[in-house]
Amino acid sequence: MKISGQLTMDDLPRVCPILCRQTNPRYGENQTRVVEVRGVRFGNGSPVVIAGPCAVETHEQTLAVARAVKRAGGDMLRGGAYKPRTSPHDFQGRGVEGLCILRIAHEETGLPVVTEVMDTRLVEQVAEYADMLQVGSRNMQNYPLLAEVGRAGKPVLLKRGMAASLGEWLGAAEYIAKQGNFDIVLCERGIKAFPAGEYSRYVLDLNVIPAVLANTFLPVIVDPSHATGVACMVEPASRAALEFGSHGLLIEVADFAIGRPRCDADQAIDGATLARIVKFARDRHERLLVAQQAVA
Ligand code: PEP
Ligand code: MN
Repeated sequence: MKISGQLTMDDLPRVCPILCRQTNPRYGENQTRVVEVRGVRFGNGSPVVIAGPCAVETHEQTLAVARAVKRAGGDMLRGGAYKPRTSPHDFQGRGVEGLCILRIAHEETGLPVVTEVMDTRLVEQVAEYADMLQVGSRNMQNYPLLAEVGRAGKPVLLKRGMAASLGEWLGAAEYIAKQGNFDIVLCERGIKAFPAGEYSRYVLDLNVIPAVLANTFLPVIVDPSHATGVACMVEPASRAALEFGSHGLLIEVADFAIGRPRCDADQAIDGATLARIVKFARDRHERLLVAQQAVA
């Protein structure tokens, strides 16, 4: 019996001919496209650490966290000005005010900024303030939004849908690429699979990283914060992600001295933990370079 709409890995050349290694030989069997965001390079071997608050809440909170990210050695600042929340009664983000705060944080720290855009009508506005546009898990299959961010002229961080297969994820990336924008970084952020919700928020699917690397030339990073939902799991998950070949990390950080974050407080790590993760990532990369040179 044949079923409509079922994808297997054999369908990738048809679903995403632009991004699939098999159909687009430009990057060979194992080269990665380097995606540059204001001088920060994803996919060039050195892992990129993006960190910041879940949501931009206040000027004081965002600046404090941005400074902590800078001090820890992070490469980019994250923070939601528009938040996808389960309940419409929850804090939805500060919108354009939040975007302004992110800009100020960029000016002070020099860290490029990535922030989520959820609405086709706001792509142009968010692109004015952000260095990279984030498409969130819940919008991974919002095809008009994908096309619009593809036309916005900014690099895109495309999170994996929480129940998306690899084919669906790469198909979503193809919508962006079809608009002529190849500056896409994929982000695994945990999937809804058994036993998600029992002792962690989602199931961090590290197995997908080598599969992504084998099938497309786009860089891929991991978000250990949403994947686990538990602060003490973020550091080991970050290390594991790098061992699996992730090109970087997207991490939520809070400054609890300023106040408990209004969203995702239980998964937020502090600046000292972030500094350890960054150090691990840098040292590990150095070790690999030395080992490679020894072989060559
Ligand atoms: C986020 O990174 O701010 C976020 C909402 O994550 P996700 O879309 O993966 O749930
Ligand atoms: Mn969050």
